[in-house]
Amino acid sequence: MNRVFLARASFRSPRVPKIYSPRNLSNHAPKDSKSSRSTSVAVAAALGGATLVSAYFFWPDNSRSAPTYGHAKLSPTHFTPVTVTASEPTTNPNARLVTLRVPQQSLPDTHDASFSSIWSIYIKDDDIQVERPYTPLEGIDEHGNMKFWIKRYPKGEVGRWILSKEVGDQIEIRGPLKTWPWQEEQWDEIVMVSGGTGITPFYQLLHHGLFSRSPESLSKTRFTLLHSFRTPEELPPPEIIEPIISYAETHPTRLDFSLYVDSLNGDNASSIARRGLQEGRIGRRALETAIGIDVDSSWWQRLCRSRRLTQRVSTSDRKVLFLVCGPEPMVAAIAGPFGRNMSQGPVGGILGEMGYKSDQVWKL
Ligand SMILES: Cc1cc2nc3c(=O)[nH]c(=O)nc-3n(C[C@H](O)[C@H](O)[C@H](O)COP(=O)(O)OP(=O)(O)OC[C@H]3O[C@@H](n4cnc5c(N)ncnc54)[C@H](O)[C@@H]3O)c2cc1C
Repeated sequence: MNRVFLARASFRSPRVPKIYSPRNLSNHAPKDSKSSRSTSVAVAAALGGATLVSAYFFWPDNSRSAPTYGHAKLSPTHFTPVTVTASEPTTNPNARLVTLRVPQQSLPDTHDASFSSIWSIYIKDDDIQVERPYTPLEGIDEHGNMKFWIKRYPKGEVGRWILSKEVGDQIEIRGPLKTWPWQEEQWDEIVMVSGGTGITPFYQLLHHGLFSRSPESLSKTRFTLLHSFRTPEELPPPEIIEPIISYAETHPTRLDFSLYVDSLNGDNASSIARRGLQEGRIGRRALETAIGIDVDSSWWQRLCRSRRLTQRVSTSDRKVLFLVCGPEPMVAAIAGPFGRNMSQGPVGGILGEMGYKSDQVWKL
């Protein structure tokens, strides 16, 4: 796992603003991190104790002060200008499907291992010099195109900024950075639990591990995705949901998919998600069912599930991994809170109660 990435990236509410330099100082990442650093020190000294706290937030670190290169290959160590080639509305008015194109001269070898799932890139908000990670849904194609599902939050800075960009605008990105390293044949079962835009890394993993593969090149891993969202409006767009539902229907022994909405609020969920949409949060029973523990079901429910559970052996014989990605309260409820300094922390929540250990649970 890329520690640098982990330390900087989170679906969680960030505890420390990711700021390159103060608002209004520069439209670009500082080219000279030393001079920028000494400027921060001078300001902090001059303004006294209270300002020391702000200086901490505004202090550039190596990644924040990464330079921008227009002709070098895309890399985690510097920013690359890319073009917005599409920004499409979705059913959720607070989210869009955004496509970015890396110019040919900056396009690295996309068969490189660093583009193996799960990876993301940082997008820099040029107005306030803040970066946030985003996950290209299907990775990057040979022309340098990457498609993202990006949501803006009521008080969120970067999401709002990205969704304000129009086709033809240039923005700066750096990456790829590894979110979690998928390894062929390592796991019998991967159970992914997501909330909101936390589905994006899992979509990328499914695209890489299942959708884009021929049947002969599939690994032995069986995937389950449990995805939750707050209201019917926040259902991920068809571009994400349809391929997952379709694959799960045609390959039930390879992929199981369930959707959970906090509340239907008397609303009609999109017809595409109607099948399998459950009201309420992802709980212990859903996780147990995901790994084939079916203690509470009646005989006829077990019979209905038998098709998708065929070829599965008892849980203790299988190498099972849980990946959890979403807002902090959801991650805490499922797998326990993150630890200090953005570390994984002990496994808690429902998975902790079920007895899973840290080598079986990963919080993204
Ligand atoms: C590996 C990784 C990949 C990611 N990929 C994507 C992606 O593909 N698409 C995408 O839209 N986002 C993605 N994110 C989340 C993204 O990086 C930002 O955290 C998110 O866009 C919010 O940033 P912001 O600057 O707009 O809001 P901030 O200024 O960081 O937050 C503003 C407010 O919004 C709330 N908030 C922030 N994030 C969330 C959240 N996830 N759920 C609920 N409330 C929240 C905060 O509590 C805060 O009150 C990813 C995160 C990680 C770690």
